[in-house]
Amino acid sequence: MAFYSEERTEDYLFKIVLIGDSAVGKSNLLARFARDEFYPNSKSTIGVEFQTQKMDINGKEVKAQIWDTAGQERFRAVTSAYYRGAVGALLVYDISRRQTFDSISRWLNELHTHSDMNVVTILVGNKSDLKDAREVSTAEGKVLAEAQGLFFIETSALDSSNVATAFQTVVREIYNILSRKVI
Ligand code: GDP
Ligand code: MG
Repeated sequence: MAFYSEERTEDYLFKIVLIGDSAVGKSNLLARFARDEFYPNSKSTIGVEFQTQKMDINGKEVKAQIWDTAGQERFRAVTSAYYRGAVGALLVYDISRRQTFDSISRWLNELHTHSDMNVVTILVGNKSDLKDAREVSTAEGKVLAEAQGLFFIETSALDSSNVATAFQTVVREIYNILSRKVI
């Protein structure tokens, strides 16, 4: 019988930031991913600063420290401390509100102003459950993501669709980049 437990000596901790307009579902994506909870009323969203989540990537334990704006974005006042040290980002819009999709370029500028250009970023079209209210097509999301070199996914924090995949895509890519550098 072989014991491999001692081989797992590395301890990875990646800072990931959630950004995007107010009410697109950032806090609920984190609540769904970290605690499998959903808050139907925005106001009941608890403003956690960050949540550390253990993840398994290629058999290695990786910790993602996921930061939530906790409402700062309402005042256009996301601080540079929020972005500092981030290696990944989920850039979220609401597929049922075009205005939040139009804001994406502004958020990308902000991200690039405050952090490294190489931050692994996924464009997230949230609220995919709101089919009848859709204002942004899947194709439009894909086109924007490709033009900006971002990953792309549509999610629903309400019905859990693709939520874990969105976070895992970012963390796996960061892990892959890092292991290539180490080797
Ligand atoms: P934040 O301001 O970006 O953090 O957004 P919240 O997480 O507070 O969500 C804003 C509102 O949208 C709340 O009323 C949520 O219940 C709702 N919401 C969030 N995600 C979804 C989703 O995937 N589907 C639907 N239908 N509503 C959502
Ligand atoms: Mg929030």
